[in-house]
Amino acid sequence: MAMLPYDDRDGVIWVNGVMVPWREAKVHVLTHGLHYGSCVFEGERFYNGRVFKLTEHSERLVKSGQLLGFTIPYSVAEIDEATRETVAAMGFADGYVRPVAWRGSELMGVAAQFNRINLAIAVWEWGKYLPDGVRLETSRWRRPSPECAPVAAKAAGLYMICTLSKHSAEQNGCNDSLMLDYRGQVAEATGANIFLIKDGRIHTPTPDCFLDGITRRTVIELARKRGIEVIERAIWPKDLKDFSEVFLTGTAAEVTPVGRIDDLEYASPGPITAALMADYSALVRS
Ligand code: PMP
Repeated sequence: MAMLPYDDRDGVIWVNGVMVPWREAKVHVLTHGLHYGSCVFEGERFYNGRVFKLTEHSERLVKSGQLLGFTIPYSVAEIDEATRETVAAMGFADGYVRPVAWRGSELMGVAAQFNRINLAIAVWEWGKYLPDGVRLETSRWRRPSPECAPVAAKAAGLYMICTLSKHSAEQNGCNDSLMLDYRGQVAEATGANIFLIKDGRIHTPTPDCFLDGITRRTVIELARKRGIEVIERAIWPKDLKDFSEVFLTGTAAEVTPVGRIDDLEYASPGPITAALMADYSALVRS
């Protein structure tokens, strides 16, 4: 597949307060974040040059760092401003933002409490993340329990199982995975939350061991504004056959209708999903 590699592009990346030429924004191979997963990140989208829910994302980044035991040496307001500067410097109207914070190279054991905390912000153009009518395969990997991992953090280490899951799905002709949690309940996709519709009501898993996505919360608000009931509850794989529509939400995924989970098929998009897709795309550009 011919693709422009991410380390060989034009532009600038904000690194620790400085705009660095894109190809020079490097880390050393002996970096704690790389070896031990002491790394947190965000994924944001901007529309007409404005980052949607920017401050919520910067706040979550800071909180994710705290959940991994470190303090990012920039305030939420400073991260917001650095993000705006990077978006402006790249000059795209619509695109994606990737802030990432990680422990540096001072010590290379498991413990690295005093390693420098680095922050970088990169921006690129990114089209649709998942196709409409996405096909999901139930993953053999599960979301860990809150006793086993800092599940509310958007932490790089938690994506190891997501990559394993998504590769399996792709190898089996699907686009993404449906991940169950440690109890066997429906949790989410590898980078998006899940909603399921039955009899005009929306059901979605309670986010007690996975990310309570910013898009998830936005879409719940949009549905309630339309007078559609949203029920947060435990959903089991055996319940999946009872729903008529399913959709995913996420910054990258936006609102994406699901066409299939394993052997079950869903209207794609069904009427409620179509209405929320329209509401969401109007809101992000409003
Ligand atoms: N779950 C996971 C695992 C994710 O990576 C994402 C994307 N950040 C989401 C849910 C959705 O979060 P958000 O709506 O805040 O992008």
